[in-house]
Amino acid sequence: MLRAEELYRFYRAGDEEIRALRGVSLDVAAGETVAVTGPSGSGKSTLLACLAGLEEPDGGIVRIAGARIDHRPERERAALRARHIGLLFQSGNLIEHLTVRQNLDLAQRLAGRRDRSWRDAVLDRVGLTGRARAWPSTLSGGEAARAGIALAVANRPAVLLADEPTGELDRAAESDVLRLLRDQARQGTTVVIASHSPAVRRFADRTVTLKDGRAT
Ligand code: ADP
Ligand code: MG
Repeated sequence: MLRAEELYRFYRAGDEEIRALRGVSLDVAAGETVAVTGPSGSGKSTLLACLAGLEEPDGGIVRIAGARIDHRPERERAALRARHIGLLFQSGNLIEHLTVRQNLDLAQRLAGRRDRSWRDAVLDRVGLTGRARAWPSTLSGGEAARAGIALAVANRPAVLLADEPTGELDRAAESDVLRLLRDQARQGTTVVIASHSPAVRRFADRTVTLKDGRAT
């Protein structure tokens, strides 16, 4: 479902070249949950950004559901992303001036899908039916994390990419988030989570560890 072959990504900082990814390959099946771990600066976020088509790798190939997302114009990458990928970040992915439900509707619209019953089912699954009309700024930390998951799956993505999704949460909210991500994987979604949390490692089917831009 998700395949990365020999990804390279370099950044330039003055005279220095930072080699964020140095030949990372990854193959994740439908319904599989993979944790990407490694110390800060090891390349986890860069890898997820390349998988999402948010960053262009300097070398290598990324395929999502059979389609290449690398080396295409941004417009095409954005369309593939809206259709096939759900994104979840620690900082939150909700648009502040839309309610929780309007955020989900927008994600569906961008994916060319409109499915109110799926939207309502997702809100129910994350326990936010009663908060559907809430503004993001009024949500608690745990609610915001669950709303982020609802938004990430509103477009029924084949692949869900989460970068440190539980970084700022307490233990109870973290286990809620992990349980919801696992439910999503059980429905056939490919889930990749970058995190250094031991709880994430425990809950994943498989762990890939990065060190200095290489999978160890
Ligand atoms: P992680 O998510 O594992 O902490 P990152 O992927 O964020 O690691 O970063 C990997 C390396 O690439 C780090 O050395 C980081 O400083 C560098 N890096 C990431 N993004 C940029 C950027 N936009 N410009 C310059 N260097 C970057
Ligand atoms: Mg990171």
